[in-house]
Amino acid sequence: MLAGKIKIMGFPQIIGHEPQKEFLLSSVRKNRISHAYLFSGPEGVGKKLVAVGFAKLINCADERAEDTDCGCASCVKTEKGLNPDVLVFGYPGEKTIKVDNVREDIERLIHLAPYENPYKVFIVDGAQRMNFNAQNAFLKTLEEPPPNSVIILITTLADQLMPTIRSRCQSVVFQPLETRKVREFLEKENPESGDPELVSRISGGSISRALATDEDYLRKRTEYIDCLMAVDGRKPLTLFDSVERIQKEIKGGGPDELKTVFDIFSVWLRDSVVLKTSGEKDEIVNADLLERLSEYSGKRNVSELLGKFSALEEAMTRISENNANVEVSLENLLLRLSV
Ligand SMILES: [Zn+2]
Repeated sequence: MLAGKIKIMGFPQIIGHEPQKEFLLSSVRKNRISHAYLFSGPEGVGKKLVAVGFAKLINCADERAEDTDCGCASCVKTEKGLNPDVLVFGYPGEKTIKVDNVREDIERLIHLAPYENPYKVFIVDGAQRMNFNAQNAFLKTLEEPPPNSVIILITTLADQLMPTIRSRCQSVVFQPLETRKVREFLEKENPESGDPELVSRISGGSISRALATDEDYLRKRTEYIDCLMAVDGRKPLTLFDSVERIQKEIKGGGPDELKTVFDIFSVWLRDSVVLKTSGEKDEIVNADLLERLSEYSGKRNVSELLGKFSALEEAMTRISENNANVEVSLENLLLRLSV
């Protein structure tokens, strides 16, 4: 009765990632489930969903999760985050995962037999945050994995994990979702989103990014592009005015607002290059700003446009690593992008 009210997302219902899901399914069918997996790929594409789906699959009481929505007790508990044998460690808000976390949450528990399922599954989200000591402690667990345990590390930056950890995990690499899949998801799950076509293009194949692309994001995107286009190198006032407008948005936004500014400029440059080279309008992200994009891209050649990516990278590095003055860095950046 309860199961009917809960939306059970079976493995096949997770959108995209067909080869990855097929690989995992076949490891179950062939009874070759690894002790440890490393799921790597971009933010927000569904790595955790697949991990939880896989945990359901290997613990499913009536083996239905492979083909359809399954409402068995084990699947329902996993879906609700209440399965004592499926543990997800995300450590939200924590910059690093420390050795004590690994000892308390994994080392201590992994040697206990599963309570009521065939497998004990440990999912560590954002595994690249494990610091050196935590990774060393974790490695010991990987070297002597207890039977009936499965560890799934999820990361956007696999190379921040020690090679000795990576080599002991079965690697599953995830790609961004196709724009079409994101659009279908939005049309079905989030019909309120204003323009699914535009939002799916902006998402870069990430569902979480698509969901964050709201009215306010779209307004800011237009504002940042306006600021860039308004700069005239011969009129310093236009530069100061644009930087002031961007800083106002940064102050009003969250801590990641500066990253949003860089992201928007980066996609703008990428679009300009696409327009200049292949001219494929289908591949343009900022499809609704095509006129302005043509204006920007038309004034510059490809090598000039490509050169501007380094201006962007330098500005990002200066600000993130050296705590450089944001105002000065933005002035430099806008000047270089507007030449
Ligand atoms: Zn089930």
